[in-house]
Amino acid sequence: MELRPLGNTGLHLSCVGFGASPLGNVFGDVPLEEAIASVRLAFQSGINFFDTSPYYGGTVSEKVLGKALKALGVPRNEYIVSTKCGRYKEGFDFSAETVTRSIEESLQRLQLDYVDILQCHDIEFGSLDQIVNETIPALQKLKEAGKTRFIGITGLPLNIYTYVLDRVPPGSVDVILSYCHYSINDSTLEDLLPYLKSKGVGIISASPLAMGLLTESGPPQWHPASPELKSACQAAAACCKKKGKNISKLAMQYSLLNKDITTVLVGIKSVEQVEQNVTAARELESSGIDQEALAEVEAILNPVKNQTWPSGIQKS
Ligand code: NAD
Repeated sequence: MELRPLGNTGLHLSCVGFGASPLGNVFGDVPLEEAIASVRLAFQSGINFFDTSPYYGGTVSEKVLGKALKALGVPRNEYIVSTKCGRYKEGFDFSAETVTRSIEESLQRLQLDYVDILQCHDIEFGSLDQIVNETIPALQKLKEAGKTRFIGITGLPLNIYTYVLDRVPPGSVDVILSYCHYSINDSTLEDLLPYLKSKGVGIISASPLAMGLLTESGPPQWHPASPELKSACQAAAACCKKKGKNISKLAMQYSLLNKDITTVLVGIKSVEQVEQNVTAARELESSGIDQEALAEVEAILNPVKNQTWPSGIQKS
């Protein structure tokens, strides 16, 4: 599995990252044994990056990931773990007090002494000025205390990144995690890549399958896309299937093609999905992407290209 550098952190992440939100049962129930086996196979296949949050499944994802990582029985420095703070089942709270307490609780659930990356989770739901003036400084203290090695911010609207990065001291935000903005139906993150690179910030792109839109089985009930976007993605999936191709493989490969993106973080809930996503990366390396299938899917999705949905409390 190809490793790519994460901004100025010195970390090298596998180009496919393991998104552990499904381990919180947010895309359907996942038995513990299946979760443990999925993490093991992912690690054995070269995936070294695992992302979770106290929000996923109301702390279930962190607990399950913690058990699965412990079951690996390998030295701590062989895998990279990111978790988040500020978003919880109970709501949002980016105060210094809460995020400082939150990391201690996350570390207990993960059974770890430190995480590699601690990210403010979905900052568009808080005050961005609080993130700049209170949350990031609190995370700096946690970094100094050895609770996290690096600091990140996550969210859906892309303008949150420039807002924060233009206002914090250089080097205080190491990583951004953007989601649903670098997949076949929406590639708007691309325009921000030169800016992020100029800031030396590591780039994690999550949800290459657009949170289930680009799958044969379709998205979960809670998916926020418009009916128009959902049906276009279903039509694209059906078109691929008719030709014996798989929309999810194509979508993974599309996201992996851009090497400015350090890791493509895909949500995984089974051994089968580890195999499918690892195979997609390997086949991309050996044979490239199926250009014909990509052109067909892009044509179907063209009327809804870059369509997104509202998120957060900021005016944008
Ligand atoms: P995704 O686009 O990765 O889609 C996940 C869905 O696709 C799940 O139902 C999964 O079981 C399924 N799937 C995975 N591989 C498949 C395959 N090969 N074929 C068919 N179906 C497959 O969306 P996601 O899980 O929301 O995002 C990935 C990860 O990124 C999350 O788990 C989380 O760690 C992170 N993330 C973070 C934020 C944030 O910080 N705000 C937001 C979104 C995602």
